[in-house]
Amino acid sequence: MSFPALYGGNTCLDFANTVDARGADPREEHLHDYADLVRWAAYANLLDEPATRHLRTLATARPQAAQASFTAALTLREAIFRVFAGLHAGTPPAPADLTLIQQGYATALSTARLEQRGDQFVWTLPADHLHRAWWPAAVAAAKLLTTGPVTRVKVCASTGGCRGLFLDTSKNNSRRWCSMDDCGTEAKIRRQATRRRRPQSG
Ligand SMILES: [Zn+2]
Repeated sequence: MSFPALYGGNTCLDFANTVDARGADPREEHLHDYADLVRWAAYANLLDEPATRHLRTLATARPQAAQASFTAALTLREAIFRVFAGLHAGTPPAPADLTLIQQGYATALSTARLEQRGDQFVWTLPADHLHRAWWPAAVAAAKLLTTGPVTRVKVCASTGGCRGLFLDTSKNNSRRWCSMDDCGTEAKIRRQATRRRRPQSG
């Protein structure tokens, strides 16, 4: 099974997009267990090889804790979707959803190490905790909310139930679809079909 393209432009939005077609029935879930979560995190470049291997070993040794971590990850993911899709629609976030993001961010940072990379300093998250697989999404969500631009977070304009989230980085704030190859093309085909059905005038 392949994961959706990383079209969100931000880790937390890409994480929310691990459910395809949220507005359709049935929606398409890409994460079914902790192993899927680790596979996705590696796919999204949130884990390097050693960290991926280490989390798999941890999960094998502690299956119940891995399942609990997976449940917490999906709870956070749904909160992220509700918060950003809601902001796009002009709805203020529910305090409970903000608390989930806040707690994920705070616990992630409590384990983070400040390290030097060349002439820069970065926070790194050690791979010795099962939550490491999804903590980057919590950190990204908190950062996006506090530093923005939240007004650039959009929901795919597809009428087919896509509901994909993305950060619009286009110069004139004009991006409407998760991807031009996917929903953008669908919309174009639909427009052309409507035009053809319309009786010719003149
Ligand atoms: Zn879409």
